[in-house]
Amino acid sequence: MAPNADGMHLRPYRVAAALAFVALTICLLAGIGPAPLLGIGMAATALAIAWITRRMERERVMTLYSLLARIGDGELGASLPDSGDEGTLRLQRGIARAQRGYAEALARAEMKSDDLQTLLSAIQTGLVALDGQLRLRSANEIAERMLGLQSTDYRGRLLAEVIRQPELLAFAERAAASAQPMTAEVHLTGTGAESLLVAGEPLSGVGGGGVLLALDDVTRLRRLENVRADFAANVSHELRTPITNIKGYVETLIDIGADDPEQVRHFLGVIHRSTLRLSTLIEDILLLAFLDQPRVNTHLDFSQTPLHTVIEDACAQVSLMAQARRMNISIRVPEDLFATVNSSLLSQAVLNLLSNALKYSPEGTTVEISGDLTNGFAEISVRDEGPGIDEEHLPRLFERFYRVDAARSREAGGTGLGLAIVKHIAMVHGGSASVDCPRTGGTVFKIRIPRGVRRIDGI
Ligand code: ADP
Repeated sequence: MAPNADGMHLRPYRVAAALAFVALTICLLAGIGPAPLLGIGMAATALAIAWITRRMERERVMTLYSLLARIGDGELGASLPDSGDEGTLRLQRGIARAQRGYAEALARAEMKSDDLQTLLSAIQTGLVALDGQLRLRSANEIAERMLGLQSTDYRGRLLAEVIRQPELLAFAERAAASAQPMTAEVHLTGTGAESLLVAGEPLSGVGGGGVLLALDDVTRLRRLENVRADFAANVSHELRTPITNIKGYVETLIDIGADDPEQVRHFLGVIHRSTLRLSTLIEDILLLAFLDQPRVNTHLDFSQTPLHTVIEDACAQVSLMAQARRMNISIRVPEDLFATVNSSLLSQAVLNLLSNALKYSPEGTTVEISGDLTNGFAEISVRDEGPGIDEEHLPRLFERFYRVDAARSREAGGTGLGLAIVKHIAMVHGGSASVDCPRTGGTVFKIRIPRGVRRIDGI
């Protein structure tokens, strides 16, 4: 077949139909005789050619249709089977060019979406986009975690259906109704985040408006503020008793003079004990404030130290107390157990644990102190034969001013800060402190520190 003006082939069934028409004309013009037979034969052949050719065309269209369907389904590399003719070749080239353009556009769109996704997951703010009816359009991972949203099955659903947080829902309603940005602090229940600072920004245009919620988890901040407020209240309460004593007894002494030496000695004794208490309290408070500083370990010296020297130093400081209570301290620390530590701080932590063990255990019992290497950590354990501590107290035991028996602690000269100091000293060394009350009785406190010191940011 000859190519027509625009380069495509003349359609074969048209040629065949034309042939049939010519044959029938000959037949009619020639009248009766051998000519009609020839004309009818030619016409039949031409119609057969036309029918076959049309069928082939239809198959080609079907092939093209299914190819486009495959490309539409994402099979970007699909192409027409080779048939060798010029038309198919041109079609193949055209499709290939469209495929390349489509693939490039898709890659660009994917890149943009990846960039956006990276950006959204890098920021520590939770983002939730809601439409005008408060249906969830999208949320980033942080928001999913804060609100406990499950995977992506929340998309398109009403916020009220997906989360049961009345304060947040009320805020979203107000923010969606307002044309102005607004902020508030809301409280959540049953999720990791308890307090959220929420900002609502109206979304105009896209999809009939809506609101974008930006969520900041301020739970830790609020807890810290509470801890600090409690601490300040506790400090003033603890300081008030000895100061009131000192003030009262000094005033009485001024009033009564020195006529009654017996009474004067008694009053001076009370003043002395109150002064000691005041000074221990202030020392503990100052030490905690020092340990609480940001990046405190950058202000401290750490050196590779044999732990038995640190432990023996602490034991020496409580030897009089142990003698007074007829208690025995047994030490089991290998000479070759070393760690990178600030020895005076670590010695203070061990001293706190030892003096607690001596204070809270019955007279005549034994306190055992040991050092071990466990999973690359140097571990110091202080075990006593005392009454142990009820399980309910264990989670809060290392908090400042937490006491199991406040009266007993004060009577024994405790400030309620000893274990908080132990915990902070362990943290300054990149380690941790823990407590365990075994069924066999007594209490075991442990300090675990990595053998090489680690910088802990934020401490
Ligand atoms: P305190 O100055 O009151 O001893 P700590 O912070 O050292 O403060 O200890 C907190 C509380 O933990 C104590 O008041 C005491 O009730 C309890 N405790 C600490 N060590 C022991 C121990 N070895 N045996 C029993 N109770 C203990």
